[in-house]
Amino acid sequence: MFILKGISQLEKAIAKAKKIRPRVEFDCFGRYRVSGSKGGFYTVICKKSDNGYKTVACTCKGAEKGLVCYHSAAALSLHIGLARRQATA
Ligand SMILES: [Zn+2]
Repeated sequence: MFILKGISQLEKAIAKAKKIRPRVEFDCFGRYRVSGSKGGFYTVICKKSDNGYKTVACTCKGAEKGLVCYHSAAALSLHIGLARRQATA
């Protein structure tokens, strides 16, 4: 899990996601399934903690170590779009 502080933190992971183009499935708002490179799906959970931090958790090995993985980046791009739509609705 990592705390999202800004988009610059995601640049590398976004570039990787654009290259790999994982499938992102919407589960519910803040919860997504992203296809892994070796098949199967990882679950990515985006949420706002009580102290206002945005946290992103992915079930893959890299994220366990606190790395920003491309699954998180892929899920976040969908999440941010949805959050924006919700805010303007
Ligand atoms: Zn991941």
